[in-house]
Amino acid sequence: MKKRRVQIEGYENGVTLAKAWISEGLMLCPEGEVIEGGYRLVDESYTEDEDVDLNLLALWEKRAVERGDRKAQERIRTWNEETFLAYVGTIHKRALSEKLDKNRYPEVQGLAAYKDREAKGIADVFGTDYRRVLLCKDIYRGPTYMFVTEGREQGRCELQKCTTVIFKKSPVGSIIGRNMDSGIHAMDGLQTYGEPVLYQYPEEMGYSYIYPIQINSRGLMIQGSSIGYPNEPISESGFRVDGYDLILRFSETVDDAIELIGRYNLFFEPAPSSLAVVDVNGDAAIIEKTKNTFAVRKTDRRSIFTTSGVAVEKKTRKIQGDNTQTYQFEFKRHQLIENLLLEEEKAPTIEAMQRIMSNHITPSPVCRHLENLSPYSQLVTLYSFVLIPREQVYYFSLIRPGPVYPCQQESTKYSYWFI
Ligand SMILES: [Zn+2]
Repeated sequence: MKKRRVQIEGYENGVTLAKAWISEGLMLCPEGEVIEGGYRLVDESYTEDEDVDLNLLALWEKRAVERGDRKAQERIRTWNEETFLAYVGTIHKRALSEKLDKNRYPEVQGLAAYKDREAKGIADVFGTDYRRVLLCKDIYRGPTYMFVTEGREQGRCELQKCTTVIFKKSPVGSIIGRNMDSGIHAMDGLQTYGEPVLYQYPEEMGYSYIYPIQINSRGLMIQGSSIGYPNEPISESGFRVDGYDLILRFSETVDDAIELIGRYNLFFEPAPSSLAVVDVNGDAAIIEKTKNTFAVRKTDRRSIFTTSGVAVEKKTRKIQGDNTQTYQFEFKRHQLIENLLLEEEKAPTIEAMQRIMSNHITPSPVCRHLENLSPYSQLVTLYSFVLIPREQVYYFSLIRPGPVYPCQQESTKYSYWFI
């Protein structure tokens, strides 16, 4: 297990983090998939097109060419390195200047300034412009990408990723299955991924937690699935908060998490998303979060789940719109999992969870391979894990070159603990 002792002072924390990454062969990369503490990182043996990785504008242009998006290409060409970084600086300044009510938002007082100092600490160790460090965080990269390619800061969420299934109670306590899906090109940056990383917070900064499984020292876990609400109007806010970090540091129960999501809804990233939470009592919920509102699902059944691309609660489904082919495609996976659970929840075990997460029934299987992709989703399952919080272990399986999918190999058992 890797340990990160979080420092009370932001700059010092940035320096400590960056030194740890360097010693482990990790580097910052805005196009990476390995997210640690909100930053995108890759293993230094990362092999994707290195020329363009160093230049995000060139990479985004290349992607726009690949998908034949002429408008985006034209927009990207109006930018240069200087105006691009200045833009990142502008949204950062806006976040820093936002005054948040002390009574309503006590958890994040001083957070923007802390994160500003942290980015500067990281930048100094890597010898780079701190705005490039900010770009490795989704709360900056997302709006910048949208603005450069589409001329607006928020917009449709194109990626439909990830499935989370929860057995609330079993002979070994709760069991969580999780598949992470993304483009096959993201495989290159994931070599060192999977091992637990402990974020050890000083008490006054909240609870400690473990990446990549996102569970805190009180036994509360949160996972997200991406989902698009293309027609929902956007409310603008300068300040954005890493929602997973917020929930893990400040909630002990599912109801605590729901309260925080409600209060921070407008600032919460990733937005929109469908969030799965489970606590030490085996209480669990799915929160279908749009940009502006959310719906909560709890159930008396032994299991609960969410899969990417579909909102199924009345309120959120209406906002999403269910008459598209994409919705119908994603909804088939939802129905598939529901049917599998009717059988498997009768005897909830680790093996039962593994069977669900490696299901391949087309047209919209839980485990996604290149050979079973549909026109509605071009993503593959890059890693899969089954977590047993009571035992503080998880079984992790990562895609390998070939590709050899997570379902086709032995998983690695990892233990984690809190100090
Ligand atoms: Zn598979």
